[in-house]
Amino acid sequence: MNIVPNVSLANYSTMRLGGIADFLVEIHSRNDLLEALAWASERQLPTIMIGGGSNIVWQDAGFQGLVMVNKIMGYDDHLVSAGEHRLTIGAGELWDSVVARSVQAGLTGIEALSLIPGSAGATPIQNVGAYGQDISQTLESLEALDIRSNTFVTLSSADCGFAYRNSRFKSTDRGRFYIVSLTLRLSVGNPLPPFYGAIQAYLEANPVDEAITPAVLRDAVIAIRSAKLPDPEIVANNGSFFANPIVTEQQLQSLLAQHPDMPHWPLETGGAKVPAAWLLEQAGFKDYHDTATGMATWPKQPLVLVNEQARATADLLAFKEKLVSTVADRYGVTLVQEPEILP
Ligand code: NAP
Repeated sequence: MNIVPNVSLANYSTMRLGGIADFLVEIHSRNDLLEALAWASERQLPTIMIGGGSNIVWQDAGFQGLVMVNKIMGYDDHLVSAGEHRLTIGAGELWDSVVARSVQAGLTGIEALSLIPGSAGATPIQNVGAYGQDISQTLESLEALDIRSNTFVTLSSADCGFAYRNSRFKSTDRGRFYIVSLTLRLSVGNPLPPFYGAIQAYLEANPVDEAITPAVLRDAVIAIRSAKLPDPEIVANNGSFFANPIVTEQQLQSLLAQHPDMPHWPLETGGAKVPAAWLLEQAGFKDYHDTATGMATWPKQPLVLVNEQARATADLLAFKEKLVSTVADRYGVTLVQEPEILP
């Protein structure tokens, strides 16, 4: 285990902002994790675990403690019964490589989650989802270190408190569990229609002779995402910076009275999901470049905030505040940010 002092956290967030960590260590095994926690505990230092840095923003003040970067690997594919597989995956695996391998094996269940950046272990935190699939649908269980008891525990999917882009790891039990592995249940077969509009449109424009296999769906998602989203290796960003808001029936009716053309997806529970991108565009933030903060919205997707020339996280937060308050004033809808601000 190599604990490194004074590390710039900007290199551990795809937004490339943030101060200095007093200490940082890569975690390659369960034992590394226990050792790192004991080391920090002896020095009374707080700890924090991260994956690929694609959904976190570091404060400018940095972190006066030990940052643990999860690099626990592993990909075990077990046949459970005819056509049913159980995959056990190390939390430090690159999520998209997990999707790629499962698709290559002809498995369905996570192919719509193609090209989502970050590590596998991060996906349950916000119940990552896209185009109708989310991780709660296929996660059978996960293994995590519970810092209350300092023991490894297995939590079933039902124990994770999953909701739309949310879980207990992001809400009631934030910071309590360090996830070390996931177990997914996937089946051999093809994804079933109806597909989301963007996928359907892509498949109509690019018809295939064969059935819509997991590989065909993965290719469609990759094409759609690559055309619309910046590559975090090239452009500093955290993907979608805001979740799509859920509005009440009353809010929906008043929004529709003003904007009958507003896209929305009614929910069974009443109210509807509204695209945050549409609200931002209508509020004047399409391809918007803010000279005061060095931040911008991505031309093809205003939900993605891009660090063009920001000097500090304070710039990003000022820009975010501008977007949130403008949308709130205009539409009475509060945009909630997706990336976590750390610490
Ligand atoms: P989009 O496809 O333009 O969709 C915008 C909103 O409309 C989303 O809330 C989406 O619901 C909803 N929607 C679209 N078609 C729908 C349908 N047929 N049935 C029900 N709801 C529908 O959004 P985008 O920003 O380009 O994102 C593409 C996908 O990636 C979306 O599924 C989005 O949720 C997902 N995404 C997830 C995360 C995350 O997990 N953190 C971050 C960014 C984007 P859903 O949200 O239920 O899909």
